[in-house]
Amino acid sequence: MIAEEIKKIHSELPEGVRLCAVSKFHPAEAIMEAYGAGQRIFGESRVQELLEKTGHLPVDIQWHFIGHLQTNKVRQLIGKTSLIESVDSERLLTLIDRESEKAGVVTRVLMQLHVAKEETKFGFSPDELLEYFRERRFETLKATHICGVMGMASNTDDMERVRQDFRLISDTRRSILEAAPDLRGFDIVSMGMSGDWHIAVEEGSTLVRIGTAIFGERQY
Ligand SMILES: *Cc1c(COP(=O)(O)O)cnc(C)c1O
Repeated sequence: MIAEEIKKIHSELPEGVRLCAVSKFHPAEAIMEAYGAGQRIFGESRVQELLEKTGHLPVDIQWHFIGHLQTNKVRQLIGKTSLIESVDSERLLTLIDRESEKAGVVTRVLMQLHVAKEETKFGFSPDELLEYFRERRFETLKATHICGVMGMASNTDDMERVRQDFRLISDTRRSILEAAPDLRGFDIVSMGMSGDWHIAVEEGSTLVRIGTAIFGERQY
């Protein structure tokens, strides 16, 4: 089942769009089934769970952290991820940078945008994020590479609204590049989940994060 879903999604994704298989709350065996089908990027939303899983799963798995990251957990996470997708405040970014420098690693991150009507309160508004780059505040970073943006659409059946949310995320990345054209490697637009990833891809996603459609319902 899992392997079939992975293969199906891989075959449907256009070139240049990657899949993050969101494995939070699912056991190692489920991850290994996806791994066997060629999947290498997995997403987790809790630090403890990610650390437990990295301990006994193949070392060529690329772990993405996609949940709200509490500042007191940053140190544990540094060096364990290939991408932290959910940087939702400048304070968190500063801390990630400081801990990465101390650990002697460069951490790759995405800036989380908040565009949805309800749902999470986490993330930058498009204006806040644009201002961050316009003022070139990223230049103080020493050991962090900002690779793009991540966001979620409103949780609604109104697919026009969902499309608008994705378009705003995509447009914000473009505006940032216009404001800071010398930015390098700022090319990831992470958006699209089980119920809306087709629309996200149409609106410029380069990385979809899919859990339920691959692994089934989560047992919280
Ligand atoms: C859980 C989660 C997903 C996956 O959602 P599904 O609807 O299960 O595909 C994607 N992105 C984030 C940030 C999540 O927390």
